[in-house]
Amino acid sequence: MLPSFFASMVDLITRTSTDLPPDVRAAMRGAVSAETPTSRAGQALTIIAQNIDQATSCEGPICQDTGMPTFEVKVPVGINQIWMKQQIREAVAEATRRGKLRPNSVDSITGENSGDNLGPGTPIVHFEQWEEPDIEVRLILKGGGCENTNAQYALPAELDHLGRADRSLEGVRKCILHAIWKAQGKGCGPGAVGVCIGGDRTSGYLHAKEQLFRTLDDTNDDPRLAALERSVMDEANTLSVGAMGFSGNTTLIGCKVGALNRLPASFFVSIAYDCWAFRRLGVHLDASTGSITRWLYREDSPSQPMLTPEEVAAGFPRTGREIPLEAPITEDQIRSLKVGDVVLVSGRVFTGRDAVHAHLMKHDPPVDLRGAVLYHCGPVVLKDGSGWRITAAGPTTSIREEPYQADIIRRYGVRAVIGKGGMGAKTLAGLKESGAVYLNAIGGAAQFYARCIERVEGVSLTEFGTPEAMWHLQVRDFPAIVTMDAHGNSLHRDVETASGKILATLASG
Ligand code: SF4
Repeated sequence: MLPSFFASMVDLITRTSTDLPPDVRAAMRGAVSAETPTSRAGQALTIIAQNIDQATSCEGPICQDTGMPTFEVKVPVGINQIWMKQQIREAVAEATRRGKLRPNSVDSITGENSGDNLGPGTPIVHFEQWEEPDIEVRLILKGGGCENTNAQYALPAELDHLGRADRSLEGVRKCILHAIWKAQGKGCGPGAVGVCIGGDRTSGYLHAKEQLFRTLDDTNDDPRLAALERSVMDEANTLSVGAMGFSGNTTLIGCKVGALNRLPASFFVSIAYDCWAFRRLGVHLDASTGSITRWLYREDSPSQPMLTPEEVAAGFPRTGREIPLEAPITEDQIRSLKVGDVVLVSGRVFTGRDAVHAHLMKHDPPVDLRGAVLYHCGPVVLKDGSGWRITAAGPTTSIREEPYQADIIRRYGVRAVIGKGGMGAKTLAGLKESGAVYLNAIGGAAQFYARCIERVEGVSLTEFGTPEAMWHLQVRDFPAIVTMDAHGNSLHRDVETASGKILATLASG
Protein backbone atom coordinates (compact mmCIF):
# COMPACT_ATOMS: atom_id res chain seq x y z
CA MET A 1 0.00 0.00 0.00
CA LEU A 2 1.17 3.60 -0.63
CA PRO A 3 4.72 3.29 0.80
CA SER A 4 5.27 7.08 1.04
CA PHE A 5 1.89 8.03 2.49
CA PHE A 6 2.99 8.13 6.15
CA ALA A 7 6.05 10.31 5.38
CA SER A 8 3.90 12.63 3.24
CA MET A 9 1.47 13.10 6.13
CA VAL A 10 4.30 13.88 8.57
CA ASP A 11 5.60 16.45 6.03
CA LEU A 12 2.16 17.99 5.65
CA ILE A 13 1.66 18.31 9.42
CA THR A 14 5.15 19.71 9.96
CA ARG A 15 4.89 22.34 7.27
CA THR A 16 1.36 23.33 8.25
CA SER A 17 2.42 23.86 11.87
CA THR A 18 5.58 25.79 11.07
CA ASP A 19 5.18 27.72 7.79
CA LEU A 20 2.21 29.99 7.03
CA PRO A 21 0.87 29.93 3.45
CA PRO A 22 1.56 32.86 1.08
CA ASP A 23 -1.98 34.32 1.15
CA VAL A 24 -1.89 34.60 4.95
CA ARG A 25 1.61 36.06 4.86
CA ALA A 26 0.45 38.67 2.31
CA ALA A 27 -2.52 39.64 4.48
CA MET A 28 -0.31 39.92 7.55
CA ARG A 29 2.24 42.01 5.64
CA GLY A 30 -0.60 44.37 4.81
CA ALA A 31 -1.57 44.51 8.49
CA VAL A 32 2.02 45.32 9.53
CA SER A 33 2.31 48.12 6.99
CA ALA A 34 -1.03 49.64 8.08
CA GLU A 35 0.31 50.49 11.56
CA THR A 36 2.93 52.85 12.95
CA PRO A 37 5.73 50.52 14.14
CA THR A 38 5.87 51.96 17.67
CA SER A 39 2.11 51.94 18.28
CA ARG A 40 0.72 49.10 20.44
CA ALA A 41 -0.71 47.34 17.39
CA GLY A 42 2.47 48.02 15.42
CA GLN A 43 4.67 46.49 18.12
CA ALA A 44 2.36 43.48 18.34
CA LEU A 45 2.39 42.94 14.58
CA THR A 46 6.17 43.28 14.39
CA ILE A 47 6.52 40.57 17.05
CA ILE A 48 4.07 38.43 15.07
CA ALA A 49 6.06 38.95 11.85
CA GLN A 50 9.31 38.03 13.61
CA ASN A 51 7.61 34.98 15.08
CA ILE A 52 6.42 33.81 11.65
CA ASP A 53 9.97 34.06 10.27
CA GLN A 54 11.48 32.38 13.33
CA ALA A 55 9.06 29.46 13.09
CA THR A 56 9.90 28.87 9.43
CA SER A 57 13.64 29.09 9.92
CA CYS A 58 13.78 26.65 12.85
CA GLU A 59 10.83 24.50 11.72
CA GLY A 60 9.17 25.12 15.09
CA PRO A 61 5.44 25.53 15.74
CA ILE A 62 4.21 29.03 14.81
CA CYS A 63 1.95 28.93 17.87
CA GLN A 64 2.25 26.61 20.88
CA ASP A 65 -1.43 25.75 20.49
CA THR A 66 -1.24 23.53 17.45
CA GLY A 67 -4.98 23.08 17.62
CA MET A 68 -7.31 20.34 16.53
CA PRO A 69 -5.76 18.64 13.47
CA THR A 70 -8.57 18.52 10.90
CA PHE A 71 -7.92 16.59 7.68
CA GLU A 72 -10.15 16.75 4.58
CA VAL A 73 -9.22 13.86 2.30
CA LYS A 74 -10.42 13.17 -1.24
CA VAL A 75 -9.68 9.73 -2.65
CA PRO A 76 -10.27 7.88 -5.92
CA VAL A 77 -12.67 4.93 -5.72
CA GLY A 78 -10.94 1.79 -4.45
CA ILE A 79 -8.48 3.32 -1.96
CA ASN A 80 -8.56 1.75 1.50
CA GLN A 81 -9.74 4.55 3.78
CA ILE A 82 -9.43 2.48 6.97
CA TRP A 83 -5.71 2.02 6.34
CA MET A 84 -5.27 5.69 5.40
CA LYS A 85 -6.95 6.88 8.57
CA GLN A 86 -4.67 4.68 10.66
CA GLN A 87 -1.62 6.09 8.84
CA ILE A 88 -2.82 9.65 9.43
CA ARG A 89 -3.21 8.87 13.14
CA GLU A 90 0.31 7.45 13.29
CA ALA A 91 1.66 10.52 11.47
CA VAL A 92 -0.06 12.78 14.03
CA ALA A 93 1.56 10.82 16.88
CA GLU A 94 4.96 11.03 15.15
CA ALA A 95 4.65 14.81 14.59
CA THR A 96 3.78 15.13 18.28
CA ARG A 97 6.89 13.14 19.25
CA ARG A 98 8.97 15.50 17.09
CA GLY A 99 7.51 18.59 18.83
CA LYS A 100 5.67 19.85 15.72
CA LEU A 101 2.32 19.36 17.47
CA ARG A 102 1.63 19.96 21.15
CA PRO A 103 -0.13 17.08 22.95
CA ASN A 104 -3.63 18.51 22.79
CA SER A 105 -6.03 15.59 23.17
CA VAL A 106 -7.59 15.50 26.62
CA ASP A 107 -10.09 13.02 28.06
CA SER A 108 -13.16 15.17 28.62
CA ILE A 109 -14.17 13.30 31.79
CA THR A 110 -10.87 12.66 33.57
CA GLY A 111 -8.87 15.57 32.11
CA GLU A 112 -6.04 13.17 31.26
CA ASN A 113 -3.91 14.13 28.25
CA SER A 114 -3.30 11.19 25.89
CA GLY A 115 0.17 12.62 25.17
CA ASP A 116 0.11 11.79 21.45
CA ASN A 117 -2.86 13.77 20.09
CA LEU A 118 -4.85 10.57 19.64
CA GLY A 119 -8.16 9.82 21.28
CA PRO A 120 -11.87 9.67 20.58
CA GLY A 121 -12.55 12.47 18.09
CA THR A 122 -8.89 13.46 17.59
CA PRO A 123 -7.63 13.93 15.00
CA ILE A 124 -10.65 14.79 12.84
CA VAL A 125 -10.48 13.04 9.44
CA HIS A 126 -13.17 13.47 6.80
CA PHE A 127 -13.13 11.36 3.62
CA GLU A 128 -14.84 12.00 0.33
CA GLN A 129 -14.54 10.05 -2.92
CA TRP A 130 -13.89 11.83 -6.17
CA GLU A 131 -13.36 11.04 -9.85
CA GLU A 132 -9.77 12.36 -10.03
CA PRO A 133 -6.83 9.92 -10.28
CA ASP A 134 -4.82 11.27 -7.35
CA ILE A 135 -5.37 11.81 -3.61
CA GLU A 136 -5.87 15.23 -2.06
CA VAL A 137 -5.30 15.93 1.64
CA ARG A 138 -5.96 19.32 3.17
CA LEU A 139 -5.13 20.12 6.79
CA ILE A 140 -6.10 22.94 9.10
CA LEU A 141 -4.70 23.47 12.60
CA LYS A 142 -7.06 25.74 14.49
CA GLY A 143 -6.30 26.43 18.14
CA GLY A 144 -8.52 26.66 21.19
CA GLY A 145 -8.42 30.45 21.61
CA CYS A 146 -9.96 31.11 18.22
CA GLU A 147 -12.19 28.02 18.42
CA ASN A 148 -13.69 29.43 21.63
CA THR A 149 -14.65 32.61 19.76
CA ASN A 150 -16.74 30.73 17.20
CA ALA A 151 -20.38 31.79 17.30
CA GLN A 152 -23.72 30.51 16.10
CA TYR A 153 -26.84 32.66 15.76
CA ALA A 154 -30.46 31.56 15.30
CA LEU A 155 -32.31 34.26 13.37
CA PRO A 156 -34.21 36.39 14.05
CA ALA A 157 -32.08 37.64 16.95
CA GLU A 158 -31.46 40.83 18.92
CA LEU A 159 -27.77 41.80 18.87
CA ASP A 160 -25.86 44.27 21.07
CA HIS A 161 -25.40 47.61 19.31
CA LEU A 162 -26.91 46.31 16.03
CA GLY A 163 -30.54 45.70 16.94
CA ARG A 164 -32.61 43.05 15.23
CA ALA A 165 -31.03 40.65 12.76
CA ASP A 166 -33.74 39.32 10.44
CA ARG A 167 -33.72 36.23 8.24
CA SER A 168 -31.99 37.99 5.35
CA LEU A 169 -28.48 38.67 4.06
CA GLU A 170 -28.68 41.94 5.98
CA GLY A 171 -29.32 39.92 9.16
CA VAL A 172 -26.38 37.65 8.30
CA ARG A 173 -24.14 40.71 7.86
CA LYS A 174 -25.06 41.89 11.35
CA CYS A 175 -24.29 38.47 12.86
CA ILE A 176 -20.83 38.35 11.29
CA LEU A 177 -19.95 41.86 12.45
CA HIS A 178 -21.28 41.07 15.92
CA ALA A 179 -19.14 37.92 16.18
CA ILE A 180 -16.01 39.82 15.09
CA TRP A 181 -16.69 42.56 17.63
CA LYS A 182 -17.33 40.01 20.41
CA ALA A 183 -14.03 38.26 19.67
CA GLN A 184 -12.01 41.42 20.51
CA GLY A 185 -8.44 40.19 21.27
CA LYS A 186 -9.43 36.77 22.59
CA GLY A 187 -8.98 34.97 19.27
CA CYS A 188 -5.57 36.54 18.50
CA GLY A 189 -6.66 38.98 15.84
CA PRO A 190 -6.34 40.09 13.19
CA GLY A 191 -8.37 37.03 12.29
CA ALA A 192 -10.46 35.57 9.49
CA VAL A 193 -13.99 34.21 9.56
CA GLY A 194 -15.53 31.27 7.75
CA VAL A 195 -19.32 31.58 7.70
CA CYS A 196 -22.18 29.24 6.87
CA ILE A 197 -25.66 30.56 6.23
CA GLY A 198 -28.19 27.82 6.96
CA GLY A 199 -27.72 24.09 7.48
CA ASP A 200 -28.49 22.63 10.89
CA ARG A 201 -26.46 23.37 14.00
CA THR A 202 -23.80 20.74 13.26
CA SER A 203 -23.56 20.99 9.47
CA GLY A 204 -23.51 24.78 9.79
CA TYR A 205 -20.40 24.78 11.96
CA LEU A 206 -18.71 22.21 9.73
CA HIS A 207 -19.42 24.17 6.55
CA ALA A 208 -18.23 27.38 8.23
CA LYS A 209 -14.90 25.73 9.05
CA GLU A 210 -14.66 24.39 5.50
CA GLN A 211 -14.78 27.98 4.21
CA LEU A 212 -11.41 28.47 5.90
CA PHE A 213 -9.89 26.17 3.27
CA ARG A 214 -10.48 28.92 0.69
CA THR A 215 -7.60 31.34 0.11
CA LEU A 216 -7.99 34.78 1.65
CA ASP A 217 -7.68 36.48 -1.75
CA ASP A 218 -10.21 34.40 -3.74
CA THR A 219 -13.60 35.70 -4.90
CA ASN A 220 -16.84 33.94 -4.06
CA ASP A 221 -18.56 32.37 -7.10
CA ASP A 222 -21.91 33.64 -5.84
CA PRO A 223 -22.04 37.42 -6.51
CA ARG A 224 -24.42 37.96 -3.57
CA LEU A 225 -22.00 36.29 -1.17
CA ALA A 226 -19.02 38.01 -2.80
CA ALA A 227 -20.67 41.38 -2.09
CA LEU A 228 -21.36 40.33 1.50
CA GLU A 229 -17.75 39.26 2.01
CA ARG A 230 -16.48 42.60 0.65
CA SER A 231 -18.77 44.69 2.82
CA VAL A 232 -17.90 42.74 5.98
CA MET A 233 -14.19 43.18 5.28
CA ASP A 234 -14.60 46.93 4.81
CA GLU A 235 -16.84 47.44 7.82
CA ALA A 236 -15.00 45.15 10.25
CA ASN A 237 -11.82 47.07 9.59
CA THR A 238 -13.45 50.31 10.71
CA LEU A 239 -14.09 48.83 14.19
CA SER A 240 -10.55 49.63 15.41
CA VAL A 241 -10.33 46.47 17.49
CA GLY A 242 -6.94 45.85 15.87
CA ALA A 243 -4.20 43.32 16.48
CA MET A 244 -4.67 41.54 19.84
CA GLY A 245 -7.58 43.87 20.61
CA PHE A 246 -5.09 46.69 21.24
CA SER A 247 -7.00 49.03 18.91
CA GLY A 248 -5.64 49.42 15.38
CA ASN A 249 -6.39 49.47 11.70
CA THR A 250 -6.64 45.76 10.85
CA THR A 251 -9.23 43.67 12.66
CA LEU A 252 -10.05 41.17 9.90
CA ILE A 253 -7.87 39.58 7.19
CA GLY A 254 -10.53 37.39 5.57
CA CYS A 255 -14.26 36.72 5.31
CA LYS A 256 -15.45 33.62 3.45
CA VAL A 257 -19.15 32.82 3.30
CA GLY A 258 -20.95 29.66 2.13
CA ALA A 259 -24.59 28.61 2.28
CA LEU A 260 -26.47 25.35 2.87
CA ASN A 261 -30.16 24.68 2.57
CA ARG A 262 -32.02 24.78 5.88
CA LEU A 263 -35.24 23.63 7.46
CA PRO A 264 -38.06 26.17 7.08
CA ALA A 265 -38.17 26.62 10.87
CA SER A 266 -34.42 27.21 11.31
CA PHE A 267 -32.09 29.95 10.15
CA PHE A 268 -28.63 29.51 11.62
CA VAL A 269 -25.60 31.65 10.93
CA SER A 270 -22.47 29.74 12.00
CA ILE A 271 -19.15 31.51 12.28
CA ALA A 272 -15.72 29.86 12.55
CA TYR A 273 -13.12 32.41 13.65
CA ASP A 274 -9.47 31.73 12.86
CA CYS A 275 -6.55 33.69 14.28
CA TRP A 276 -3.63 35.33 12.46
CA ALA A 277 -1.79 31.99 12.92
CA PHE A 278 -3.98 30.66 10.14
CA ARG A 279 -2.32 27.30 9.54
CA ARG A 280 -3.78 25.63 6.49
CA LEU A 281 -2.03 23.64 3.78
CA GLY A 282 -2.70 20.74 1.43
CA VAL A 283 -1.03 18.24 -0.86
CA HIS A 284 -1.80 16.15 -3.90
CA LEU A 285 -0.44 12.61 -3.70
CA ASP A 286 0.35 9.96 -6.26
CA ALA A 287 -2.38 7.35 -5.68
CA SER A 288 0.00 4.42 -6.19
CA THR A 289 2.89 5.58 -3.95
CA GLY A 290 1.43 8.22 -1.62
CA SER A 291 4.30 10.60 -2.45
CA ILE A 292 3.64 14.33 -2.75
CA THR A 293 3.22 15.47 -6.37
CA ARG A 294 2.38 19.09 -5.52
CA TRP A 295 1.57 21.39 -2.61
CA LEU A 296 -1.70 23.30 -2.45
CA TYR A 297 -1.92 26.99 -1.48
CA ARG A 298 1.75 27.50 -2.28
CA GLU A 299 4.44 27.06 -4.84
CA ASP A 300 6.80 24.42 -3.52
CA SER A 301 9.49 27.01 -2.95
CA PRO A 302 10.82 28.64 0.21
CA SER A 303 8.39 31.07 1.85
CA GLN A 304 9.04 34.77 1.40
CA PRO A 305 10.20 36.20 4.76
CA MET A 306 7.86 38.64 6.50
CA LEU A 307 10.64 41.08 7.37
CA THR A 308 13.72 42.40 5.62
CA PRO A 309 17.16 41.61 7.09
CA GLU A 310 17.30 45.24 8.35
CA GLU A 311 13.96 44.85 10.12
CA VAL A 312 15.06 41.57 11.67
CA ALA A 313 18.28 43.21 12.86
CA ALA A 314 16.26 46.07 14.40
CA GLY A 315 14.33 43.49 16.46
CA PHE A 316 11.39 44.43 18.66
CA PRO A 317 10.64 48.12 17.94
CA ARG A 318 11.44 49.75 21.27
CA THR A 319 10.43 53.31 22.09
CA GLY A 320 12.91 53.74 24.98
CA ARG A 321 9.99 53.94 27.39
CA GLU A 322 9.91 50.19 28.15
CA ILE A 323 9.94 49.44 31.88
CA PRO A 324 12.11 46.59 33.19
CA LEU A 325 10.30 44.39 35.72
CA GLU A 326 12.33 41.85 37.69
CA ALA A 327 10.46 39.09 39.53
CA PRO A 328 9.73 38.82 42.42
CA ILE A 329 7.96 42.17 42.12
CA THR A 330 6.97 44.56 44.92
CA GLU A 331 3.53 46.11 45.37
CA ASP A 332 5.02 49.61 44.94
CA GLN A 333 6.46 48.67 41.55
CA ILE A 334 3.10 47.32 40.47
CA ARG A 335 1.12 50.34 41.63
CA SER A 336 3.43 52.62 39.62
CA LEU A 337 2.39 50.91 36.38
CA LYS A 338 -0.48 52.09 34.23
CA VAL A 339 -2.40 50.85 31.23
CA GLY A 340 -0.36 51.24 28.05
CA ASP A 341 3.05 50.77 29.68
CA VAL A 342 5.28 48.27 27.91
CA VAL A 343 7.25 46.14 30.36
CA LEU A 344 10.19 43.80 29.89
CA VAL A 345 9.83 40.98 32.41
CA SER A 346 12.91 39.18 33.72
CA GLY A 347 13.42 36.61 36.46
CA ARG A 348 11.34 33.62 37.42
CA VAL A 349 7.92 33.10 35.84
CA PHE A 350 5.53 30.22 36.59
CA THR A 351 3.14 28.89 33.98
CA GLY A 352 -0.40 28.06 35.02
CA ARG A 353 -3.56 27.55 33.04
CA ASP A 354 -6.89 25.80 33.53
CA ALA A 355 -5.84 22.77 35.60
CA VAL A 356 -3.40 24.77 37.75
CA HIS A 357 -6.03 27.43 38.51
CA ALA A 358 -8.62 24.82 39.49
CA HIS A 359 -5.97 23.11 41.65
CA LEU A 360 -4.94 26.32 43.42
CA MET A 361 -8.52 26.98 44.47
CA LYS A 362 -8.36 23.84 46.65
CA HIS A 363 -4.66 23.31 47.43
CA ASP A 364 -1.64 25.37 48.40
CA PRO A 365 0.72 26.14 45.51
CA PRO A 366 3.76 23.88 45.02
CA VAL A 367 6.00 27.03 44.94
CA ASP A 368 6.05 30.39 46.73
CA LEU A 369 3.95 32.74 44.61
CA ARG A 370 4.55 35.92 46.64
CA GLY A 371 5.60 38.66 44.21
CA ALA A 372 5.43 36.12 41.42
CA VAL A 373 4.53 36.34 37.76
CA LEU A 374 1.95 33.77 36.65
CA TYR A 375 1.99 33.06 32.92
CA HIS A 376 -1.13 31.71 31.22
CA CYS A 377 0.77 29.41 28.88
CA GLY A 378 0.76 25.78 27.82
CA PRO A 379 4.18 25.39 26.18
CA VAL A 380 5.52 22.80 23.76
CA VAL A 381 8.27 21.04 25.74
CA LEU A 382 10.81 18.44 24.66
CA LYS A 383 12.89 16.28 26.99
CA ASP A 384 16.51 17.34 26.63
CA GLY A 385 18.89 14.95 28.40
CA SER A 386 17.99 15.18 32.07
CA GLY A 387 16.26 18.55 31.56
CA TRP A 388 13.66 20.17 29.38
CA ARG A 389 13.65 22.44 26.36
CA ILE A 390 10.76 24.76 25.55
CA THR A 391 10.24 25.03 21.80
CA ALA A 392 7.08 27.18 21.75
CA ALA A 393 5.65 29.30 24.55
CA GLY A 394 3.09 31.98 23.69
CA PRO A 395 0.21 33.05 25.95
CA THR A 396 -3.16 31.32 26.12
CA THR A 397 -6.58 33.01 26.41
CA SER A 398 -6.91 34.38 29.93
CA ILE A 399 -10.66 34.85 30.24
CA ARG A 400 -11.06 31.14 31.05
CA GLU A 401 -9.43 31.83 34.43
CA GLU A 402 -11.81 34.68 35.26
CA PRO A 403 -13.70 32.70 37.95
CA TYR A 404 -10.45 31.97 39.85
CA GLN A 405 -7.91 34.69 39.13
CA ALA A 406 -8.79 37.35 41.72
CA ASP A 407 -8.92 34.74 44.52
CA ILE A 408 -5.56 33.26 43.54
CA ILE A 409 -3.92 36.68 43.37
CA ARG A 410 -5.26 37.60 46.80
CA ARG A 411 -4.53 34.28 48.52
CA TYR A 412 -0.99 33.74 47.29
CA GLY A 413 0.35 37.26 46.62
CA VAL A 414 0.79 37.00 42.82
CA ARG A 415 1.80 40.42 41.45
CA ALA A 416 1.51 39.99 37.69
CA VAL A 417 -0.47 37.77 35.39
CA ILE A 418 0.65 37.39 31.78
CA GLY A 419 -1.87 36.17 29.22
CA LYS A 420 -3.77 37.35 26.19
CA GLY A 421 -7.19 38.71 25.39
CA GLY A 422 -7.73 40.35 28.78
CA MET A 423 -9.88 39.46 31.77
CA GLY A 424 -13.15 40.65 33.24
CA ALA A 425 -14.56 42.84 35.98
CA LYS A 426 -13.90 40.42 38.84
CA THR A 427 -10.20 40.20 38.03
CA LEU A 428 -9.97 43.96 37.46
CA ALA A 429 -11.37 44.57 40.96
CA GLY A 430 -8.98 41.94 42.35
CA LEU A 431 -5.96 43.65 40.74
CA LYS A 432 -6.92 46.92 42.41
CA GLU A 433 -7.56 45.34 45.80
CA SER A 434 -4.38 43.23 45.91
CA GLY A 435 -1.98 45.43 43.94
CA ALA A 436 -1.40 43.38 40.80
CA VAL A 437 -1.40 43.90 37.02
CA TYR A 438 -2.49 42.02 33.93
CA LEU A 439 0.12 41.96 31.17
CA ASN A 440 -0.98 41.17 27.64
CA ALA A 441 1.62 39.24 25.68
CA ILE A 442 1.25 38.71 21.93
CA GLY A 443 -0.95 35.69 21.30
CA GLY A 444 0.53 33.04 19.07
CA ALA A 445 4.07 34.48 19.26
CA ALA A 446 5.32 31.13 20.52
CA GLN A 447 8.74 31.20 18.88
CA PHE A 448 9.42 34.80 19.84
CA TYR A 449 8.63 34.14 23.50
CA ALA A 450 10.44 30.79 23.60
CA ARG A 451 13.57 32.82 22.82
CA CYS A 452 12.96 34.97 25.92
CA ILE A 453 13.26 31.85 28.12
CA GLU A 454 16.81 31.38 29.35
CA ARG A 455 16.16 28.03 31.01
CA VAL A 456 13.60 25.72 32.55
CA GLU A 457 14.33 25.55 36.28
CA GLY A 458 11.75 22.97 37.25
CA VAL A 459 8.22 21.73 36.85
CA SER A 460 5.35 20.96 39.24
CA LEU A 461 1.97 19.31 38.81
CA THR A 462 3.13 17.16 35.90
CA GLU A 463 0.13 14.91 36.51
CA PHE A 464 -1.90 17.49 34.54
CA GLY A 465 0.12 16.77 31.35
CA THR A 466 2.73 18.90 29.58
CA PRO A 467 0.63 21.91 28.56
CA GLU A 468 -1.18 22.11 31.91
CA ALA A 469 1.79 21.53 34.26
CA MET A 470 3.35 24.43 36.20
CA TRP A 471 6.68 25.16 34.51
CA HIS A 472 9.29 27.25 36.38
CA LEU A 473 10.94 29.45 33.77
CA GLN A 474 13.83 31.89 33.97
CA VAL A 475 13.07 34.63 31.42
CA ARG A 476 14.92 37.69 30.14
CA ASP A 477 13.33 40.86 28.65
CA PHE A 478 9.98 39.25 27.95
CA PRO A 479 7.89 42.10 26.41
CA ALA A 480 4.25 42.58 27.33
CA ILE A 481 1.80 45.47 27.61
CA VAL A 482 -0.01 46.51 30.78
CA THR A 483 -3.63 46.27 29.69
CA MET A 484 -5.24 46.10 33.16
CA ASP A 485 -3.63 48.02 35.99
CA ALA A 486 -3.97 48.26 39.78
CA HIS A 487 -6.01 51.48 39.51
CA GLY A 488 -9.12 49.97 37.93
CA ASN A 489 -8.20 50.74 34.31
CA SER A 490 -8.65 48.22 31.49
CA LEU A 491 -7.64 48.71 27.88
CA HIS A 492 -9.88 45.74 26.95
CA ARG A 493 -12.94 47.40 28.45
CA ASP A 494 -12.09 50.70 26.73
CA VAL A 495 -11.56 49.12 23.29
CA GLU A 496 -14.73 47.04 23.61
CA THR A 497 -16.75 50.13 24.51
CA ALA A 498 -15.26 52.29 21.74
CA SER A 499 -15.63 49.58 19.08
CA GLY A 500 -19.19 48.94 20.28
CA LYS A 501 -20.01 52.56 19.49
CA ILE A 502 -18.59 52.15 15.99
CA LEU A 503 -20.54 48.91 15.60
CA ALA A 504 -23.75 50.80 16.37
CA THR A 505 -23.07 53.12 13.43
CA LEU A 506 -22.98 50.06 11.13
CA ALA A 507 -26.46 48.91 12.15
CA SER A 508 -28.16 50.23 9.05
CA GLY A 509 -25.61 48.89 6.55
S1 SF4 B 1 -2.55 32.36 17.70
FE1 SF4 B 1 -3.85 32.58 19.53
S2 SF4 B 1 -5.88 31.85 18.99
FE2 SF4 B 1 -4.42 31.14 17.43
S3 SF4 B 1 -3.91 29.08 18.10
FE3 SF4 B 1 -2.34 30.48 18.90
S4 SF4 B 1 -3.04 31.08 20.97
FE4 SF4 B 1 -4.78 30.14 19.89
